[in-house]
Amino acid sequence: MISVEDARERLLAMRPAPRHETLPVAESAGRVPAEATVMAPIDVPPFANSAMDGFAVRAADLPGRLRIIGESAAGAISLPTVEPGTAARISTGAPMPPGADTIVPIEEATDAGAEVDIRDAAPQGRHVRGAGHDTRAGETVTLPAPLTPAAVGVLASLGIGEVEVLARPRVAVLSSGEELTDPGTPLAPGHIYDANAPALVAAISEAGGVPILLPRIGDDPAAVAAALTAAVEVADLVVTSGGVSVGAHDHVRDALSRLGRLDFWRIAMQPGKPLAVGEIEGTVIIGLPGNPVSALVVTELLVRPLIRAVIGLGGDGRAHVRAILDEEASKDPERAAYLRVALRQTDAGWAASPAGGQLSSQLQALAAADGLLAVPAGEPAGRAGVAYDTIVLRD
Ligand code: AMP
Ligand code: MG
Repeated sequence: MISVEDARERLLAMRPAPRHETLPVAESAGRVPAEATVMAPIDVPPFANSAMDGFAVRAADLPGRLRIIGESAAGAISLPTVEPGTAARISTGAPMPPGADTIVPIEEATDAGAEVDIRDAAPQGRHVRGAGHDTRAGETVTLPAPLTPAAVGVLASLGIGEVEVLARPRVAVLSSGEELTDPGTPLAPGHIYDANAPALVAAISEAGGVPILLPRIGDDPAAVAAALTAAVEVADLVVTSGGVSVGAHDHVRDALSRLGRLDFWRIAMQPGKPLAVGEIEGTVIIGLPGNPVSALVVTELLVRPLIRAVIGLGGDGRAHVRAILDEEASKDPERAAYLRVALRQTDAGWAASPAGGQLSSQLQALAAADGLLAVPAGEPAGRAGVAYDTIVLRD
């Protein structure tokens, strides 16, 4: 058995090389740009304009009564020239007319139709937004990773319509088990519904991957081999569920060894011990245990960081808190236990209590859990009153 940390490191070292894709700028938020900076091709704003609705004037004429000679509206191309003693109406964002150097807001002027009365003097340049006052042409603009809505706005303001980002990996999902039936169809005798295929598709999307759900396979060595061979053709990563344990009908590990390479098998974690990881034709295969809680907890701890690394994001993207366990929890001393817990805030900090049954077949407790509380390998039990690192699963 290897530790969860070792397994994560080994998996990260096996990760596929990132691909790039080009996206419309409006779809790029949350994605990591292929280049960390862009060179501004233009000034933003491209021309001096008014920060207020009001009158464009010459500061030297103020205070005074000025003749209105026309208007500069937003988007206008032909502009009146403001000569001494005159003013132009102007709207926010409209270009400064030639000759004008200052804006007087509507509220500070009395509009008499053909003329305008301005009571007070104003410093030159007041309420004028200079060309490039946000970004200068030629300036190096550093982009946040991942891109935020504000960064999308900056790129758009520079006239950039498409961005190159790290592509989301295609992750094939292959559920296996003779006993499985698709939800939404009648349940045959001795069958259970396939919970893992839909749950894994959801977890992979949530982590930033593009799930590709492939047809389910039975517990047949030839079918398992054929499905894995086909999966590596269409995906950057392959995730299988079931068939990795020691039963007579568990064929995924064997297929891995025969078609490619089995890198490691069995992780010192609870749930999730019989995880098998290997490669076929350079594509990483992650053989998840079939028990639904095991499959999802391994996905959380190992597949999610792997997907995030491929799209240029570090870590697991989760908040971690120290939470004090309410009650004693039994565990295998050799393995790290990930308890499905409900979290609540107390005066002493976060407190955690089991969110329901902790067996790897009891999926309801995982659905109800706010977090996964990690009791390290080597400890005989989770102890009441002790604080443990807890992965927060919800926003
Ligand atoms: P296995 O890893 O194939 O030995 O499966 C372990 C347990 O998980 C068995 O009880 C299976 O019936 C169950 N199981 C396997 N695959 C799924 C699945 N896709 N959905 C729900 N339960 C499953
Ligand atoms: Mg099975």
